[in-house]
Amino acid sequence: MCFDVISIFPQYFQPLDLSLLGKAQESGRVQINVHDLRNWAEGTHRSVDDSPAGGGAGMVMRADVWGRAIDTVRKPGRSVLAIPTPSGQLLNQRLVERLAQSEQVVVACGRYEGIDARVAEYYDNVVEFSLGDYVLNGGEVAALALIEATARLQEGFMGNAQSLMEESHSEEGLLEYPAYTAPQQWRGHEIPAVLKSGDHKAIARWRRDQSLRRTARRRPDLLASLQGLDSRDRQILAEEGW
Ligand code: SAM
Repeated sequence: MCFDVISIFPQYFQPLDLSLLGKAQESGRVQINVHDLRNWAEGTHRSVDDSPAGGGAGMVMRADVWGRAIDTVRKPGRSVLAIPTPSGQLLNQRLVERLAQSEQVVVACGRYEGIDARVAEYYDNVVEFSLGDYVLNGGEVAALALIEATARLQEGFMGNAQSLMEESHSEEGLLEYPAYTAPQQWRGHEIPAVLKSGDHKAIARWRRDQSLRRTARRRPDLLASLQGLDSRDRQILAEEGW
């Protein structure tokens, strides 16, 4: 899978060479190309923005500069144009799973008051996405999140593919159970006894209970789409007031 990121701050993307993403690039599983938008700007100042039509504060990024950049990097085939914006759909695991099916994701990182709206209207397969209900200075941080979340779903990216299945927001969409490790006792807090019992069935049931409880307490909105609950699941959720 290939990512092409376009930004006026290409240096933002250096951390993508670290850790598992760095290894995935070395092995060729994932390709990440970072492009400087100013390569497609014209004039002595290589300006990428102009004042907003209709007046108002701030500057807007020019459609003509973005158009030249996207036309150059976008490949025919299963390509998605992802545009970070606080008014987009929330970047969640379902969206990430969908993006992971693409051959190429082009991420267009806006700055200032964002990119001229005609860019999102003009292209096919556009996903305008938001990292959350707050405003960042630019799309770079959102692009980093999208790339990392999408790349780790590529086959062979994780050493153990099982880790992807048991995570929060995967499969059923529950939050993951709490995790513990050594030392056995820390500042008066013990690891739950069941996790030391060696009884794999009891551990699996305890973990499921904890997932249900955590989701009910922290993200009750995720319970709406839950299906296939057994009687024990229902009992746990009833205890949590559901
Ligand atoms: N004036 C815009 C608005 O109110 O929707 C916000 C512009 S923001 C200062 C500049 C850029 O940061 C946006 O074009 C977008 O690329 C990025 N950005 C800001 N907040 C974001 C968020 N929550 N999710 C994704 N991208 C965001």
